[in-house]
Amino acid sequence: MQHVMEYAAPDTLHRIPTPTPFPVGAANIYLYKGDCLTLFDAGTHTEDAWGVLTCRLGELGVMPRDIEQIFLTHHHLDHIGLSRRIKDVSGATVYAHPEVAKHVEYMYDESLTRVHLEAVMAELGVPMAMANDVIAHRHQHRELLDDFDADRFVEDNTAAGPFEAHFRPGHSATDVLFVHQQERWALTGDHLIRNVTPNPILRRRSENGIREKSLVQYCEALQQTRSLDLGWCFPGHGAAFANHREVVDATFRHIERRNEKVLRVIPTDGATPYEITRLLFRRMSEPQLYYCLSATTGHLELLADQGKLHCRLHEGVYHYHPLRDNLG
Ligand SMILES: [Zn+2]
Repeated sequence: MQHVMEYAAPDTLHRIPTPTPFPVGAANIYLYKGDCLTLFDAGTHTEDAWGVLTCRLGELGVMPRDIEQIFLTHHHLDHIGLSRRIKDVSGATVYAHPEVAKHVEYMYDESLTRVHLEAVMAELGVPMAMANDVIAHRHQHRELLDDFDADRFVEDNTAAGPFEAHFRPGHSATDVLFVHQQERWALTGDHLIRNVTPNPILRRRSENGIREKSLVQYCEALQQTRSLDLGWCFPGHGAAFANHREVVDATFRHIERRNEKVLRVIPTDGATPYEITRLLFRRMSEPQLYYCLSATTGHLELLADQGKLHCRLHEGVYHYHPLRDNLG
């Protein structure tokens, strides 16, 4: 008989959901009252989020100036937003994966972002006028970007205080899981969330011209997380859970169902990722296009990787075609 180790929920960790202007809703910041007063993630750079954070910290007997460390799970704007402000009042040390600093630097650079988005939209078959709308919409988020710098870099499989860091790119290029080494609870950021399959956001091209296949990478990362020995998990959105393997398996099942749906809508003579996105998300509003395109492209790349679809590059635009076996 298999013995399953039960771990207690930590009473040293406190969840603080903070408002975001994004469809995802509240983003969690966690206060850890260990040897050091530590925050995991830093919400969004808005007065609303700051108000909620300082109020909840106050109820827990902590002032923002008392914070000693901030650990960041990834570079998205609903997770790093208040790190500068907290650091300014407290002098806290900010820990992040080296990729976080690189991605934030890139987000600051408006022209680099434009070049990247134009290139990605073009190869996915998005009409130019619509690509410009996507770019304009993404630039609206720039006001949420505060000055940012990390003080200490956390690499894969290294220790940071009582925590071990595990690099888990997929949802973003920078996701890190922090595991309390002794007590085996984990901060899972947006890598693992109960009842939510994280969107594998389209990646920018690296210096060597390669754009990582987000969902392929995510599935590999998820498999690695499944093999960890973990107790309670504390995600970037929503409530904690204690059964990480069940949550991983449910996420894989959801990805599989999405895969089947994608296979069903692809026309027999093939289509571009943009056209397939339109077939899958018929009621999508324009601001949602980038996220829908990310999801669709992720599945197309995964299916091609699994040998279930053909992918051809024709005049700089990707086309996906069903295999003969998939027909009928
Ligand atoms: Zn998030």
